[in-house]
Amino acid sequence: MTAPTLNRRKIMLSAVAGGSALLTGLGRPDGAGAQTQATTGGNAASYRFRVGEIGATVVSDGIIGGPPKVYASDAPEAELQEVLKRAFLPSDHLTLNLNTLLLDIGGKRVLLEAGAGQTMGPNGGRIFANLAALGLSAGDIDTVVVSHTHPDHVGNLRTADGERAFPRATIFAPKADWDFFVRNDPDLSYMPVPEDFRRRFGAAIKRSVEPVAQGIELYEAGAEIVPGLTTIAASGHTPGMVSFLVHSGTDQLLLTADLAYHPVVNIDRPWRPGPDRDKDAALSARRRIFDRAAADRIPVLGFHYPFPGLGHLLKTDTGYAWVPAGWQF
Ligand SMILES: [Zn+2]
Repeated sequence: MTAPTLNRRKIMLSAVAGGSALLTGLGRPDGAGAQTQATTGGNAASYRFRVGEIGATVVSDGIIGGPPKVYASDAPEAELQEVLKRAFLPSDHLTLNLNTLLLDIGGKRVLLEAGAGQTMGPNGGRIFANLAALGLSAGDIDTVVVSHTHPDHVGNLRTADGERAFPRATIFAPKADWDFFVRNDPDLSYMPVPEDFRRRFGAAIKRSVEPVAQGIELYEAGAEIVPGLTTIAASGHTPGMVSFLVHSGTDQLLLTADLAYHPVVNIDRPWRPGPDRDKDAALSARRRIFDRAAADRIPVLGFHYPFPGLGHLLKTDTGYAWVPAGWQF
């Protein structure tokens, strides 16, 4: 068990490291990293499947992460350590994936979540290389829809040169988040990180969306973005966060966005993410949407769950359980 003082110290150290990463620009939105990745080995970071007539591909933007306590803010330290140990995870760092989803809807390429770039550390920004490995470039994307405007969801919208990273794409963002994070200077004191980190976090949002502000499509929760893609109100984590429902015929896919960060602490255990702004609203959104996914047996994609992040939510006597989907060849 880690003493509370030590744990706090770890959070501080990690957040400072993360803070400096917030200052470095974005990766290589031109896809220049593709060859490096393709020729140096490593694993494929895309995963294809279908939702009825809609082609779907999870395209990884890499990983972020931090101290487990940040993502399980109300977990008793001893219990948290035991859960991490039983999941064979490190005690001091929780890795979060960045599972963006590329949809082919009637020949239009729709990307759900832009990814982090390097706004949250050096291991994001891989989406452009992974698109290149699929034979695609950022210029092939017609539409980008973000569930909320945290840096790990909008970071890739800006190139290192300050240009639009997806030059042809129409960008959709929730209006309530735009009002809160972009049009105003939000009070981020609810986030369990040092003030310095919060300041850079807020600045990273404004900086990332600046090139796309002109022409941005601001949507209300519940809006249908395109036929086959509907948003579902899920505010709490941020004022405007939504979940996405992809549907075609009788097939559906539910994207939980940041209702949960990691299944081990936020699904299999009920602990609340520290970055949730309104923790009670986030909890009720989580229950409402998880209950629907469990009752209707809807396949689920978690943006931050272990790649490719696909599976089902099972309702249990005490809460929920995450059941990963088997690999499809
Ligand atoms: Zn996130």
